Amino acid sequence: MIYIFFLLFILGTCLGSFISCVAYRYKLGISIIYPRSFCDNCSQTLQHWQLIPIIGFILQKGKCHFCKQKIPLSSTVIELAIGVIFIFNTIIIANTNLIFTSLLVVWLTLISLEDYYTLSVDSITLEYGGLILLIFRFHTVITNLKANFLIIILFIIILISCNLLNKFGTADTILIVFSFLLLGFYNTLVVILLSCILGIISYLIKRDFSASHPLFHI
Ligand SMILES: [Zn+2]
Repeated sequence: MIYIFFLLFILGTCLGSFISCVAYRYKLGISIIYPRSFCDNCSQTLQHWQLIPIIGFILQKGKCHFCKQKIPLSSTVIELAIGVIFIFNTIIIANTNLIFTSLLVVWLTLISLEDYYTLSVDSITLEYGGLILLIFRFHTVITNLKANFLIIILFIIILISCNLLNKFGTADTILIVFSFLLLGFYNTLVVILLSCILGIISYLIKRDFSASHPLFHI
């Protein structure tokens, strides 16, 4: 069992590294394929050993191998967090939901990072990611729709109306609709409540009431 945990941790750290890279490249407006990973400060192309999740950061002692500029800790924290979450997922979640919950964590973290960096979300990340998860949870989606069809439709109409009146972001609207379908009506209300609480805490810590902030603080 310890080998499975180890492999899941490695998989989690690799996916954490990948989504950190995707979100950062989205912020810079460059392709996720080209150019190869490089140092922000000296633009040197990174070697393979420097890209190993967590270990690359430790081997370089938190500084660029070439120019000695400090490497931000954020990417390593995300790699570690996704690795640990994958292990907890395996312990807590039943096997049938393991792939779904793991993909959900990766998808929401990527959306959060893109939103945090740019206050926008790439439509490919949001829509294609959501559609893949809908396929994984097809039966649950049908059950959720059958159980709360009218109230979900009513909420979707309210969300779209708010979006058309520019009171609510398009990405937030689409994400909540996906959440209704994937997690069900009541779980989505809990998610929205938690997001609002975390958003308020974030406002209070930053004490910056003028700037825009991402809605979902996952
Ligand atoms: Zn450098």
